[in-house]
Amino acid sequence: MRILLLSIFILLHFCLLAQPKKAPERKEGEGPWPQLIIRGVTLINGTGAPPVGPVDVVVENNRIRNVIVVGSPGAPIRQEDRPKLQTGGKEWNAEGMYLLPGFVDMHGHIGGTEQGADAEYVFKLWMAHGITTIRDPGSGNGLEWVLDQKRKSEQNLITAPRIKAYTNFGQGSKEPIGTPQQAVAWVRENARKGSDGIKFFGAAPQIMKAALEENKKLGLRSAMHHAQLNVARWNVLHSARAGLTTMEHWYGLPEALFENQTVQQYPLNYNYANEQHRFEEAGKLWKQSAKPGSEHWNKVMNELLALDFTLDPTLNIYEANRDLMRARRAEWHEEYTMPSLWKFYEPSRVAHGSYWHSWGTEQEVAWKENYRLWMNFLNEFKNSGGRVTVGTDAGFIYQLYGFSYPRELELLREAGFHPLEVIRSATLYGAQALGMENEIGSVEVGKLADFVILDANPLENLQVLYGTGAIFLNEKNEVIRKGGVVYTIKDGIVYDAKKLLQDVKKMVVEEKSKSGFKITQPGMKEF
Ligand SMILES: [Zn+2]
Repeated sequence: MRILLLSIFILLHFCLLAQPKKAPERKEGEGPWPQLIIRGVTLINGTGAPPVGPVDVVVENNRIRNVIVVGSPGAPIRQEDRPKLQTGGKEWNAEGMYLLPGFVDMHGHIGGTEQGADAEYVFKLWMAHGITTIRDPGSGNGLEWVLDQKRKSEQNLITAPRIKAYTNFGQGSKEPIGTPQQAVAWVRENARKGSDGIKFFGAAPQIMKAALEENKKLGLRSAMHHAQLNVARWNVLHSARAGLTTMEHWYGLPEALFENQTVQQYPLNYNYANEQHRFEEAGKLWKQSAKPGSEHWNKVMNELLALDFTLDPTLNIYEANRDLMRARRAEWHEEYTMPSLWKFYEPSRVAHGSYWHSWGTEQEVAWKENYRLWMNFLNEFKNSGGRVTVGTDAGFIYQLYGFSYPRELELLREAGFHPLEVIRSATLYGAQALGMENEIGSVEVGKLADFVILDANPLENLQVLYGTGAIFLNEKNEVIRKGGVVYTIKDGIVYDAKKLLQDVKKMVVEEKSKSGFKITQPGMKEF
């Protein structure tokens, strides 16, 4: 989100005035140890390989040293095959549990003042859901703020995922960027400041081209939300050709697929600054494009595949468009959503992503069709060898940090991905898109010790990944909850994921008691 309403310039300067609180010194987590052996777990390694177990996973000095199969399911573990614990080492019994690589969230804004979401709240929600790496795609908090949190996370001084910090194109510039030379100068300055990449929203073609090419030359990466204001002259194909790493959301892709028009069929009274217009009309966009499987559809898909382009769809962030009540009534809001965040979500002509001036059956049905076509493209792209990643963009449109992650996985499943393909998108493919595949993204020898451990099989039901678990009926006819991540391990430090959620709950209770706030349904009081 964070689409810029009028001028990138004015908004970014405004946003930099106030920043959310940084994360406090770390009090959570056990370890690291010189050696950590996780015993008897079933492994889902993130590469697309099927589960295998029981295995013992050996970590030494934060690197995976060995993964050893130590038995067969249902049979006693072969003690003679087990790796030996060294002095000072730690054994962690995970029999009956599942171990996956730490998750990557490719679109994670670290809170914001508008949302009233401080870093600790956001980080703990992410870590509690197994997210050990995030890319902040251009933060309103400013590059310095994010780089500070990034450094502290690297040293594990705070409880937080690894951070890749991208900068909004033009952010911090003293004047608007109007020439390719200015663009190149800004890109160099951004690299010098230590940014990991750039997030674009759109600019004149010669500026986009100059900025993307220079950025790539410097070895940095890029993300782009193709906002409608510039998409008529620069869609995802232009971006991919100029070296863009990932496209965010989906805008710019239907436009690349147009056959019988060159602009979206905007109603003539459309105004981009009116978010009801923006989101309602966007729901009619995919069906204006070339049909699935048509010559033009295939041509666009093949060119993107040949350019090794990455799609980061953030499906969940638009879900309220196809089912507003589902997003608004999600069962975690009461206990985990900050009052300020709830207020930010409510219908408003001013807040971004709160465009519910009038949202009903017609809009939702159009968006359901929009999703079908969009998912069709994603699934075919994946089947043809393309990289689709998992990003959430939480903090907008009733999507909560952490909780939106399993939802994104479910939506990829709905798009046709096998659950193992879903997990690969969440782990290895995210790592590849960040250029970190030698360090993270799969459970393989030599990589860092970032893991998610669960007491239920996420392949059978991705909902066990929600912090609130999944509902089951036991043999005594009682309703029980299963799942929720049990341990999140980052850099060999083991975090009790349930405890992190307890901390978040407490933060929300405190905030509510200050204001006497209760979640209400919009307009219900007066109805
Ligand atoms: Zn965003």
